Amino acid sequence: MATKQTLTPHHLAKLHVHTGDEVLILTGKDRKQRGKVVRTFPRSNRVLVEGRNMVKRHMKPDQSTRQGGIIEKPMPIHASNVMVICTECGEPTRIGHDRVPQGQDQKLRVRRICKHCGKAIQEQSRIVRS
Ligand SMILES: [Zn+2]
Repeated sequence: MATKQTLTPHHLAKLHVHTGDEVLILTGKDRKQRGKVVRTFPRSNRVLVEGRNMVKRHMKPDQSTRQGGIIEKPMPIHASNVMVICTECGEPTRIGHDRVPQGQDQKLRVRRICKHCGKAIQEQSRIVRS
């Protein structure tokens, strides 16, 4: 792990999945399950979905915990293996983009559009971050 080299792009491409989105998982044992994105990893194109893609880790007892056993932790899922669920129509959808004036300064900002119903998908991250 320590020697793992990662490519560092000049800018990190934004994922089509954002923190706070509800997503549908398309692959793996949690296929067809929904969950909330709690973190995104643009560098590796992965997202962490709350309570999904849990992996069992067998821990040896050590000085700090004094007990071993099986610990379950969520592992990030590749962004291509999840589908964003539209906040407007509730359907899993592909994402489109358009630019509209937004915010106080009315600057052109990219907005995500549901390919299903054509409405803008609401960003949940502001609420999550609190
Ligand atoms: Zn929609």
